Amino acid sequence: MPSITREDLAARDAADPLKSFRGRFDIPEGLIYLDGNSLGPLLNSVRDRVADVVSREWGQDLITSWNKNKWMELAGRIGGKIAPMIGAGGHEVLAADSTSINIFKLLSAALKMRPGRRVILSEAGNFPTDLYIAEGLVSLLGGDYSLRLMDKAENLADYLDDDVAVVMITQVDYRTGRKLDMAAVTKQVQDAGALMLWDLAHSAGAFPVDLNGAKADFAVGCGYKYLNGGPGAPAFLFVADRHQATIQPALSGWLGHANPFAFTSDYKPATGIARHTVGTPPVLSMSALDEALSLFAEVPMEGLLKKSQQLTGLFIDLVEQECGGHGLELASPREAAARGSQVSFRSQNGYAIMQALIARKVIGDFRDPDIMRFGFAPLYISYADVWDAVAILRDVLETGAWDVDAFKQRAAVT
Ligand SMILES: *Cc1c(COP(=O)(O)O)cnc(C)c1O
Repeated sequence: MPSITREDLAARDAADPLKSFRGRFDIPEGLIYLDGNSLGPLLNSVRDRVADVVSREWGQDLITSWNKNKWMELAGRIGGKIAPMIGAGGHEVLAADSTSINIFKLLSAALKMRPGRRVILSEAGNFPTDLYIAEGLVSLLGGDYSLRLMDKAENLADYLDDDVAVVMITQVDYRTGRKLDMAAVTKQVQDAGALMLWDLAHSAGAFPVDLNGAKADFAVGCGYKYLNGGPGAPAFLFVADRHQATIQPALSGWLGHANPFAFTSDYKPATGIARHTVGTPPVLSMSALDEALSLFAEVPMEGLLKKSQQLTGLFIDLVEQECGGHGLELASPREAAARGSQVSFRSQNGYAIMQALIARKVIGDFRDPDIMRFGFAPLYISYADVWDAVAILRDVLETGAWDVDAFKQRAAVT
């Protein structure tokens, strides 16, 4: 690699202000984990916390834990930890349910807030669950409710009109890593009289987000990607302060009631963000997420953004320099500000190439039809890791190591 040497990158690692965080994760020796955008790795502190919650809080304290170990406060406490990472107030964020369910909750509430408008507007390439949930909701409501899809969010103006009640967009596209300007899009949507729901699945924990700076109405996000909360970790939702008193949850569960333990037969929503709670929280998963988020209190968010842009930019430069002639085509924006913390390359042999990389301990993933995704979580990926990953990719391409049947058999999860 002529222009940049591995020594240069090792020197950058030595000077990296985020370098101390890597040792807090339990990442297997020799593995280059470029898939934190799908499942964040285990923190040592999370392993200890979960063990303690299981053996002491559940095992010994049993039902007294709801009060004694503050299990009931977990959802709001986690919300308070996520809030500063996404530019929200602590009272505007709640950990609850899955991203899919939170989308249902907020889309249905948003439609109710715009009577007379019947359209949910989203992007054709949005993550499937976002679209499936919207489809299910409009079909449940019947009448003339519908889901309208833009070819791409950049053409938003062509799709907005007086029928649009709510616009739902994922800020960072899961396939390409394209990142949208949150403030500009939110303003455009609100100027057209609609409400804005952001999906932050690939934003929260990867770089700083400013929901209130953008005057966003609603947001959802994922706990198991860059937040490292563990497989199937609870998701989160954001409701701007100005909507909290009037918003009506469609999933009006007992734990979102003003006084659940009064056990009355009529529903009266809790004040504030708590009304978006549905049922009993998954305490083991909540505890893991709560512990994982403690790390972020120590993380300078601007430093996270800077390193994310440097790692992804370095990967693009090195792949283009080292792997030319193998038909890889950059699918992510070249401009740092227009990209999330992942880089995607297209290749017709992408699935097999990714399997060959995984066999060589470089873990990324694949998304149909031809996208190889590489996630760069700044807390545990080093500059030298980027070099090593590209060196292995080059070897896989030059030797044709991917071109065997074993790497072409599709697994259930790609
Ligand atoms: C990962 C992801 C989800 C996941 O939804 P779940 O309900 O947790 O399965 C939703 N939306 C986007 C954009 C995602 O990237």
